[in-house]
Amino acid sequence: MSDFRLGDVIDDHCIKCRRITNHAIVSLVNSAPAKVRCRTCYHDHDYRHEQAPPSKKDLKKQELFNEVLASAVPAPVDGGDLVDAAHAEESSKSKKAKARSKKA
Ligand SMILES: [Zn+2]
Repeated sequence: MSDFRLGDVIDDHCIKCRRITNHAIVSLVNSAPAKVRCRTCYHDHDYRHEQAPPSKKDLKKQELFNEVLASAVPAPVDGGDLVDAAHAEESSKSKKAKARSKKA
């Protein structure tokens, strides 16, 4: 499977043809196809692993989805708040300890 060679014909999605077509490997990186050329329209492009690129419509949908997620999830608590909380707890404990030591 990893034995690709330049000129090998593999399937990939061509954005110009807008479908899976035969592609010849024109560039290999780590013995994996990096660039391919559509055998139908001769368009060179990065190997897409037969995945169609997301359409503008899909990108817009994803953007909206992320916005919804961002508004639904509460802002993450940053480390500073956690440290402050720990300090507050510690100081209240030490106050109690002092109070106790006064009584005793
Ligand atoms: Zn093509």
